[in-house]
Amino acid sequence: MPMDYFLALDAGTTSSRSILFDSKGDIVAIDQIEFNQIFPQKGWVEHNPEEIWETQLRTIKRVIQKANIKPEQIVSIGITNQRETTVLWDRDSGNPVYNAIVWQCRRTTPLCQKIKQENYDKIIFQKTGLVVDPYFSATKIKWIIDNVDKAKKLLKEKKLCFGTIDSWLLYKLTGGQSHKTDHSNASRTMLFNIETCKWDNELINYFELDPSILPEAIDSNSYFGKLDKSLIGVEIPITGILGDQQAALFGQTCFSECEAKMTYGTGGFILFNIGKEIYHSKNKLLTTIAWTINGDTFRALEGSIFIAGAAIQWLRDNLQIIPNSPSSELAANAVPDNGGIYFVPAFTGLGAPYWDPEAKGAIFGITRDTTKEHIVRAALEGIVFSTKDVVEAIEKDSNKKLISLKVDGGAAKNNFLLHFLADILNVEIIRPKITETTALGAALISALGCGYFKSFDELKKIYKVEKIFKPNMNEEKRNNLYYHWKKAIDKIRNF
Ligand code: ADP
Repeated sequence: MPMDYFLALDAGTTSSRSILFDSKGDIVAIDQIEFNQIFPQKGWVEHNPEEIWETQLRTIKRVIQKANIKPEQIVSIGITNQRETTVLWDRDSGNPVYNAIVWQCRRTTPLCQKIKQENYDKIIFQKTGLVVDPYFSATKIKWIIDNVDKAKKLLKEKKLCFGTIDSWLLYKLTGGQSHKTDHSNASRTMLFNIETCKWDNELINYFELDPSILPEAIDSNSYFGKLDKSLIGVEIPITGILGDQQAALFGQTCFSECEAKMTYGTGGFILFNIGKEIYHSKNKLLTTIAWTINGDTFRALEGSIFIAGAAIQWLRDNLQIIPNSPSSELAANAVPDNGGIYFVPAFTGLGAPYWDPEAKGAIFGITRDTTKEHIVRAALEGIVFSTKDVVEAIEKDSNKKLISLKVDGGAAKNNFLLHFLADILNVEIIRPKITETTALGAALISALGCGYFKSFDELKKIYKVEKIFKPNMNEEKRNNLYYHWKKAIDKIRNF
């Protein structure tokens, strides 16, 4: 019997990747190609949509070669993508009218300020669960239409297509046949109503857009179209799409309410499954659609910490007190405690729940016997305390308790970090065997979409745990450490 394979297309911010999974959820082959980051002005970030497509297609061909399988053995394709990044293209020719404006791009700050002055941000928050910020797609679409003549012309002729990167790739993969997206991606555009799960006409009018530009927004495990035969010689159904953070939540099998995942990369992203309800955060967290599966919409609270692994990079590159990131674990374990050192890594301001863009980082409690190991340990502890701050906000907003936390990302390799996280959050921390959770999520949603797997229970069987970190700290110590962290936060805010 030939094996069945599932192809995950992971369209990231810096690279296109294709990952082949077998039906046990194990990785068979990976291919990755980086693409150019374009910075036309300070604060502007763009990608070339054609380059995204070409690199993505090349990785598809190369991953099949690497795995040495026949394309016919691929049962389904799932897409996961950098969210919010905006592409507008000509429906007939498939040519983009402008570069993709990337989620990081700040060019629409003035428009966002105007929205706030008009007090319309409250309505947007109510409808979309998002705080008004250049990050999201709507103001980016508006910018392209206002600044690119071709876009205006196509809009008049009703030939303009908008898409986030999932839609753009889908359009190309299907030879221009499919202009669709899923609810998780739609919920990041600032045009999608997270209660009705429909594009919101009032918002479309407010931004002076036309509904004809929007992709059809459907369930995350839908049939989105099929791979155009001219590309690799076979037609393969595309049956799953999820934005990257939601895909990680799915790949971590956090299918139930109160399950959560944390991705520790440069920064940290936490998503907390809130089930079918909607809460609007009072602590500046976002409410977003996790996925819609067979008509059931699950939502999530999303919080981010700006600096996670980046604090360790800073110790390595700026202070040069560790040779590489993994050695931070050894250094932290070389001392019995933090020696009274508290390190607030607020290099780029403070995120949720403080939202203080002016805050700067600080190291407190230095004495003559402070060593570099104490500083390294305090940096890792600082990442944990920042996580605790966001978890507290989540628990306040939802009035629910986190039951465990699943982790992934580069810094989740650090055992000290995860032990301390278990101690401070007082929950089990679970690290999976497959840390490519985003790609796994895309593969799993497509396997569900094509009917290969039928239930969440079947998917859960595929999930393999590598290590569980259990809390082992008494309450007094935990409270004492966190109390000092809060004091440190207080000091930097009043510096
Ligand atoms: P991104 O996707 O944001 O580029 P990655 O998931 O690749 O990030 O993770 C890279 C980050 O993780 C870097 O900031 C690096 O310093 C940090 N990191 C990698 N390994 C470790 C480790 N063992 N301990 C602590 N931090 C680590």
